[in-house]
Amino acid sequence: MYGLAARCARKKAGRRGSLVTGIGEAWRLARQRIDRLDARLLVEYVASCSHADLLAHPTRSLSALQARRLDALVRRRASGEPLAYLLGCAGFYGREFTVTADVLVPRPETELLVELALERLRHLDEPLVADLGTGSGVLAVSLKCLCPRASVVAVDLSPTALAVARQNASLHAATVRFVEGDWYGPLAGDRFDLIVANPPYVAADDAHLESGGLPFEPRMALTDGVAGGDGLGCMRVIVGGSVRHLLPGGWLLIEHGHEQAVAVRNLLRQAGLSGMATWADLSGSERVSGACLAGCRD
Ligand code: GLN
Repeated sequence: MYGLAARCARKKAGRRGSLVTGIGEAWRLARQRIDRLDARLLVEYVASCSHADLLAHPTRSLSALQARRLDALVRRRASGEPLAYLLGCAGFYGREFTVTADVLVPRPETELLVELALERLRHLDEPLVADLGTGSGVLAVSLKCLCPRASVVAVDLSPTALAVARQNASLHAATVRFVEGDWYGPLAGDRFDLIVANPPYVAADDAHLESGGLPFEPRMALTDGVAGGDGLGCMRVIVGGSVRHLLPGGWLLIEHGHEQAVAVRNLLRQAGLSGMATWADLSGSERVSGACLAGCRD
């Protein structure tokens, strides 16, 4: 009965050329299908209105086109597509970044990497910094904005990801050198005070890849794709090459999965780095490990 009534109501509304009457009603209907906050953000996005507008002027109308766009976005969100892809942006370390399906959605846990990086840059005059696998560029751009005296180079294999990263750098007026290539590939002969990376680290057969928003994200940013592997394939390349690309006392900081800290510290030790450490993110998961080349400053 309910389904039929709803279909009839939709048909009638369709004849009137509008599915909903006002932004408040649109929000009410959307939050029956998706998370309340996501629903609110999508209504605000489609109607170009603020949260205050939504509360103070709930009868402000949506055009038929806006209503159709909202319906399509709510449908996509209900099927698991990340909100950041629908809005085309996401917040990271206090800044807004352009995000498309060519890049990983910035994660709050990656903000830990920014904090640890800044601690290591604080005492250096003109630090040289590399961000490997930059994706949307959130690490490179945030670091350049927060430490303007640093020279930052950001590498990615994906030209479409680099286009997004370049857009983000110009959005925040951050001078970052972007280069296309595989990890250290385009950095031959270069050495850095700091190398940061949030590489793919989910094992190729981890069921996690098929849940949440992950099926919508670029596979190459999530996993090394090694069937039956441990997800550490890219980590081995990054850690292994770091001794040829760190200046004495320079640090490598790398994000990893919450059960990979011991394995990553072993890789760091085997590579000949010292001062191995692991840090937990805000949810208490071991998330970032790092070490430095002999001659450590701190
Ligand atoms: N932290 C992400 C996740 O597990 C993965 C990010 C990455 O592979 N760099 O959802």
